[in-house]
Amino acid sequence: MKLKICHLYGNLMNTYGDNGNVLMLKHIARQKGVQVETEIISLNQAFDPEEFDIVFFGGGQDYEQMIVSRDLQSKKEALTAYIENDGITLGICGGFQLLGHYYINAKGVRLEGIGALNHYTLNQVNSRFTGDITIYDEESGDTYYGFENHNGRTFLEEGVRPLGVVKEGKGNNNEDGTEGARYKNVFCSYFHGPLLVRNPHLAARIVDLAIQRHQQKNLLA
Ligand code: GLN
Repeated sequence: MKLKICHLYGNLMNTYGDNGNVLMLKHIARQKGVQVETEIISLNQAFDPEEFDIVFFGGGQDYEQMIVSRDLQSKKEALTAYIENDGITLGICGGFQLLGHYYINAKGVRLEGIGALNHYTLNQVNSRFTGDITIYDEESGDTYYGFENHNGRTFLEEGVRPLGVVKEGKGNNNEDGTEGARYKNVFCSYFHGPLLVRNPHLAARIVDLAIQRHQQKNLLA
């Protein structure tokens, strides 16, 4: 079996070692005897929802996010279809923000997301949420460790649940105790570190989901 990972805007959205998440997915898959191919899909390239088993969308600075936000609108339909069809997706920080409705950046400029997940992100003035963070994932019973560094304050709305409950740190908005997002087979988080390297059990869970979905798709084909 061969899994195909789409590294969405991998040449623009790759802050704080987020690329390590892709390396970790490859590493875990290989340990399970599964080959992995990675392709960067970036500006002016089409995203084919049928082609990929995992989509990884990393974090970015506001400048890169502005460029990506514009281009992303042309991929909105295909990415939403992939997510609605239970496509496995991991969004970190800036990627997480743009999977939602919009992100108001540090200068107060609104960057459109794709609204594939029901959340939105506001800014904060002259401040960032920076530091170590620990959350508890009620779905799996796991505790995750990471480092957060974001201006955005994200608010989850109906149909989206958090990845975890904040035990230490700020999380989505430093108000409601949520961190990250879960919807269908989408996992989102503000964790750098990178998330999957520091939390290998989550990496294994994501790879297992991708293997299962790949097998099911092949059975139906
Ligand atoms: N630019 C966004 C923010 O500051 C995302 C940062 C990131 O992806 N690390 O909130």
